[in-house]
Parts: sequence; structure tokens; C-alpha cells
Amino acid sequence: MNIAVIGGGINGIMTAWELLKQGHSVTLFEKGKVMQQTSSASSKLLHGGLRYLENFEFRLVKEALKERQWWIQQAPHLAQPLKLYIPIYQNNRRPAWIYKLGLWLYDLLAGRKNIGQHQSLTQQQIHQACPELKTENLVKGFSYYDGQMDDYQLGLWALEQAKKQPSLIIKEHTEVTKIDIQGNLTLADGTTNSFDKIINIAGPWAEQLLKESNIKSNYTLDLVSGSHILVESNVIPASAGISNKTNEKFGYFLEILNERRMFFVLPYQGKTLIGTTEQRQTINDNIQPSEQEIDYLINAYNHYFKTPINKQNIVQSFAGVRPLIKSTDNPTKATREYAIQQNKNLITVFGGKWTTARQLALKLPVTLKKDK
Ligand SMILES: Cc1cc2nc3c(=O)[nH]c(=O)nc-3n(C[C@H](O)[C@H](O)[C@H](O)COP(=O)(O)OP(=O)(O)OC[C@H]3O[C@@H](n4cnc5c(N)ncnc54)[C@H](O)[C@@H]3O)c2cc1C
Repeated sequence: MNIAVIGGGINGIMTAWELLKQGHSVTLFEKGKVMQQTSSASSKLLHGGLRYLENFEFRLVKEALKERQWWIQQAPHLAQPLKLYIPIYQNNRRPAWIYKLGLWLYDLLAGRKNIGQHQSLTQQQIHQACPELKTENLVKGFSYYDGQMDDYQLGLWALEQAKKQPSLIIKEHTEVTKIDIQGNLTLADGTTNSFDKIINIAGPWAEQLLKESNIKSNYTLDLVSGSHILVESNVIPASAGISNKTNEKFGYFLEILNERRMFFVLPYQGKTLIGTTEQRQTINDNIQPSEQEIDYLINAYNHYFKTPINKQNIVQSFAGVRPLIKSTDNPTKATREYAIQQNKNLITVFGGKWTTARQLALKLPVTLKKDK
């Protein structure tokens, strides 16, 4: 079949790759350049999503844990296991047993695809492993593993693999302005092209493209932006980096003070990555970290670490928009599941995590191949 894929983020790229592997011809339309929107503004984690267990998203977590290992095996130069510490303080919102239960389940769901077991740590052990953490009210801790990637480069790597298959045409700087359910699409310059199938996988813009094409959308996207800051590591020694003792890369997963929200402190390209925030927005808003979000992340960090940071230590900040399926008013609790809508020859994808992009591609009604 001759198939159009609209959207050059990770979900569009993995979809193109899977379709090509199955012998289809693919034209990938991207309004800007590939991998320059949400897919390169992530927390850089190939993860199951420990937090999603609280929302009982067991299917998604299991699938993502499996995919975490797949990426690490396929592209070890761009994706590796990362040890994450969760320190438990007296005033944490969640008691230690909730973390213990979640981590036990996380390992269980990963099964044979696990990349490392979680551990319970005494106060002394977590203090020794993470000397930069403040110790007042520190009770105990946990460690577990997830994957870390260079999201932009890993997406380009996936596209390179797709290019090795015959019949891929990539059209960057080519915006699709209208689609129909017969398989016709119109470009910004007014030209029309016909395909056997169209896959609208434009991330946060997928619903808007349906609307502009007067096609009813079965799902509503809840656009929740998230910001990160990147801080020079020399100002925050050993808060996240490579352990002197075990030579393992490590970071943290921490509760925001007086909130149930969690944030990450991660080693990233010799610097420290801190994120993320959650802010509702519309598709036309400017996607930029706000001053309040930057202050929020600095305060969250300074609450836990001995050496404080300030705005001068930030070398970069970036934001992206999560295309979440609207399910609740609280973005932290919103489902991270994806959904697929089919209207004759048009398939639209809503949502979809970075980690699960390949599995999403395999579930599209044109591929529908169960991968082991
Ligand atoms: C702050 C934040 C942190 C995250 N952290 C993680 C994480 O650590 N791990 C994880 O697994 N997931 C994470 N996610 C989720 C993940 O990044 C996204 O779900 C995923 O990148 C979405 O990919 P996508 O291809 O659907 O969308 P995008 O990457 O946004 O790609 C869509 C593409 O479509 C193009 N496009 C739009 N409209 C048109 C049009 N009309 N014509 C042509 N092209 C068009 C856009 O230019 C864009 O390039 C995070 C998300 C955010 C926001």
C-alpha cells in the first residue's frame, strides 16, 4: 500500500519504519524538521512510568518496561540503564510502603525484560550513596532502574534504520493542511495527493488537523506542557552523575515538597537535567518554559540538595507539550494511554509515550502485527 504518515516525531518515525518493514511505501510529512517538537523535549527516559502504577495503568507500564529493554538492546550507544534513587523523608506525601509496593510491581511487570532489580536502602546506605542529599528527616530510601536516552539522536537513529528499507520518502517543511477519509491530503501550497491510507500521527496537533478537516474526533487531547532546566554539574557536585564507588550513572526521582507530584534530577551529557512541570495550554500557545516554572524547578531541587542552585547556573531550558487523552481534571492523574481512531482510509493516533512508539506502531490497523 501507498501510505502517508503525518508527523515526524518518534511516533511517526516508528510507524513509518514498521510500515516499511511490512513492505508498504511510505511518505512521511513533517511541517518543520523531524524530531524537533515534543519528541526531543522529553525527560530522556525510556521508562515504564513508576508513577502510572498509582493510576492502575498496568498494561501500559508493562508494555513500556518491555520497550525500555528493546531500545537499550537495539541502540546501546544512545540508550543505557540508569540507576534512580528515591529518598524517603519523614514529611513525604507517600509512605515508604507505597514506594516499596510500586517498585516490587515494577520489577514484576518487567519480568524477564527487567534491566535491574530495585533495592531498599537504610538511611545510612542512601546517605553514603548520595552524599549531596540533605539528611534532616531522611528516613530511608530505594533505588531502581530505568533507561536513559538521547531522545533527539535516538529518534534520528530510528529514522536511519527506516531509511535502510526501500520506499521511504521524507518531506520536511511540508505541512498538511487538510485530510479526508478517502485518503486524500492537501498541502500548505494547495497541492493534493492521494494515498491508500493516511496516518495522522501529529502528536499534539493530531486533533487540530482533524478539526480543520471537519472530521469528528472521538477523543479530546489535553495539552499539558512540561519544562526542564539543564544545570552545569560543577555547581552541584555528585547530585546526579557517575558514582565513584560503583561507576554507575545515577539520578533521582523525588516528591515536590507538599505535593504528590514527582520530579527528576538526572545526569545528562555531563550536566544535570531537572524536570518537569505540568501546565495546561492550548495548541496555539508559545511552548516555552515560564519564569514561574523555572523558579518552581529550582525550589524543588534546592529543597533536597545541600549545594543550592540559582538561575545563573542554568545553561539551557526547554519545554514540550504532552498530547494526553482527556480523562481527568488533574494532569498528573491523566491517562498516558494512547488511542487509535479509524475513519475508512484515515487513521488518527491520540497520545503515545516516547518509550512505547514501536508498540503503538504495531497496533495500527495497517500493521497489526504482535511483536514478541
Ligand atoms: C515534558 C515532557 C517529558 C516527557 N518525558 C518522557 C519520557 O521521559 N519518556 C517517554 O517515554 N515519554 C516522555 N514524554 C512523552 C513523549 O515525549 C511524547 O508522548 C512523544 O514524544 C510524542 O511523540 P509524537 O511523535 O506523537 O509527537 P511530536 O514529537 O510532537 O511529533 C509530532 C510532529 O508532527 C508534526 N506536525 C504537526 N502537525 C503537522 C502537520 N499538519 N503537517 C505535518 N507535520 C505536522 C510536528 O511538527 C511534529 O514534529 C514526555 C513529554 C513531555 C512533554
